[in-house]
Amino acid sequence: MQLKSKLSERVRRLPPSKFAEIRRLMIGRTDVIRLELGEPDFDTPQHIKEAAIRAINEGFTHYTPSEGLLELREAVARKLKRENRIEANPETEILITDGGFGAIFAAIQSLVNPGDEVLVPDPAWPRYFQNVLLAGGVPKRMFLTEEDGFVPDVDGIRKNVTRKTKLVVLNTPHNPTGAVMPKNVLEQIGDLAVEHNLTLLLDEVYERIVYKAKHFSLAAHSDLKNRIITVFSFSKTYAMTGWRIGYAVSHANIIKAMRSVSMYANACRNSFVQKAATTALDGPQDCVEAMVKEYRRRRDLMIGRLNEMEAFSMTKPMGAFYVYPRILLDVESPDFVKQLLEKAKVSVMPGTTFSMKGEKYVRLSCANSMERISEAMDRVQRVVSRL
Ligand code: PLP
Repeated sequence: MQLKSKLSERVRRLPPSKFAEIRRLMIGRTDVIRLELGEPDFDTPQHIKEAAIRAINEGFTHYTPSEGLLELREAVARKLKRENRIEANPETEILITDGGFGAIFAAIQSLVNPGDEVLVPDPAWPRYFQNVLLAGGVPKRMFLTEEDGFVPDVDGIRKNVTRKTKLVVLNTPHNPTGAVMPKNVLEQIGDLAVEHNLTLLLDEVYERIVYKAKHFSLAAHSDLKNRIITVFSFSKTYAMTGWRIGYAVSHANIIKAMRSVSMYANACRNSFVQKAATTALDGPQDCVEAMVKEYRRRRDLMIGRLNEMEAFSMTKPMGAFYVYPRILLDVESPDFVKQLLEKAKVSVMPGTTFSMKGEKYVRLSCANSMERISEAMDRVQRVVSRL
């Protein structure tokens, strides 16, 4: 009690992490098929690992500039131009970060004052909400609906904008639903941002994991670049979650502020990881294509099997590696998840982790093998048929 009162207000406002709760439950559970995880099951491609090992062996093991190695920022600038049609000056408009996490933290800390409102999608990856709280801001939910394919509704955003709205967070491809925002919707939101003088935080960490859909980066419109911070990561694209490396692109003034925040947080990014990241961007990309092809097979298997059960309805995910079905049975997701874990030995995430209205949804991850997913679906079917 005494100790609690010593903690900052900021920290006391933070809700407990549901991910940590599930992780604790999983300790020592080798009998469970893990479909709750939000990270690729693939190994990091060999040529990327070798680049890091080479850098270590060459003694590249010291501090680096807080904005990131220039050679990596230059590789990022080439990639942004090639793949995202974003023109960025590697000297001033790109920041290397500790994954998407580091970029989002630095962006929100740089822009949000206590009392500022930030529009955050719901459902969404919960860290946006918590980061806004940590900055003393007021997160406001913009609800995404299944009827709209979980794509933000421009009028819905407009209705939620007040004089205090500072920032709007968007995520495409979207965790947990797999929705990919169409270009025209993004452009309408861009117009809205101009009209209301808003800044947009665009989380595009799943940019390369798209199926039939096409990923579009709104910052490709150079007139909007000044009010957009776009966040990218190596984690999902190259199966590098443990390496902790990503980047952000924005206006030079915003990047300068974000660089200060990340410098005070932890000086600089890991030196040899930046060498590996440069190799990832400049090297062959067939490893990415192979992983995406496999996620697609798994997604199709999972959707096919879930549909057969007649216990779920779902929109087809067009990106990321998740399926977010609605449970049609008379059970709510926290209880359903518990039952699946106990009776089927399959772990999935309850929709309540991602949404205030998530009682009827669960998130399943395709980051597991075809064999394990198939076995998991058999097990889920057995439990569902008894409910
Ligand atoms: N954004 C979204 C939507 C995510 O799902 C995640 C991780 O799960 C991240 C950002 C952060 O990933 P990382 O920090 O590993 O790049």
